[in-house]
Amino acid sequence: MLLNINKLNKTFGDLHVLKDINLTVNEGEFVAILGPSGSGKSTLFQLIGGNQIPDQGEIFLNDELINGKKGFISYMPQQPSLFPWRTVLENVVLAAELKGKPNYEEAKQWLAKVGLADFENSYPIELSGGMKQRVSFIRALLSKQNLLCLDEPFSALDEFTRLKMQKWLLSVWEENRKSILFITHSIEEAIFLADRIYILSKRPAEIKAEIKVPFSRPRDERLLESSEFFT
Ligand code: ADP
Ligand code: MG
Repeated sequence: MLLNINKLNKTFGDLHVLKDINLTVNEGEFVAILGPSGSGKSTLFQLIGGNQIPDQGEIFLNDELINGKKGFISYMPQQPSLFPWRTVLENVVLAAELKGKPNYEEAKQWLAKVGLADFENSYPIELSGGMKQRVSFIRALLSKQNLLCLDEPFSALDEFTRLKMQKWLLSVWEENRKSILFITHSIEEAIFLADRIYILSKRPAEIKAEIKVPFSRPRDERLLESSEFFT
């Protein structure tokens, strides 16, 4: 088991946000989290990413307790936090830079794969919301941790680009043997992408249901449709 969350609780003052959350992600699994707005989905990622500390409960990654520890997962936050004074390319290599040597060639290749080859030297202010999301996505990917946590990564995209990105994500998942934890408010998206879905209740959020997607098509089949990406 890659990620193992045990009886996680989080409050902000009087606000009980997460209640006794138990959740797992196995190696190579694609897991989606569905839940109403304001239920605590992003807070859960803040906890996994070490940006917040739980009141109770444990978060284990590969059996190591990571409560309050940063840098153990690849994390794409709901709001892209790009540095305005850095170009797109400089923004995506950030995580790799903190760790040592950024690979600019690799970063360029990834940007090209999501249709941003012409925007390497642009600044965030010149990008649309959907483009910023893709930049933020590539930044998370380049931080290269085993677990990729994506917080509503495609919410700002038009339908057409979203479908392309969904298929592209499946190919990334397959080729790079990633384990993915994916927050969405779209039931359709969760069923299309995930092996397993957790459904959160309203606040205080508890796991209301855990669904193994029974009609989830095999990866190969899902990937068949992913041959045309951004050209
Ligand atoms: P979701 O992502 O499911 O829409 P969030 O996790 O963003 O929900 O928020 C859950 C609740 O916790 C909201 O009521 C939000 O206002 C509150 N909240 C989130 N972060 C903080 C914080 N740092 N301080 C106080 N309240 C917070
Ligand atoms: Mg959220």
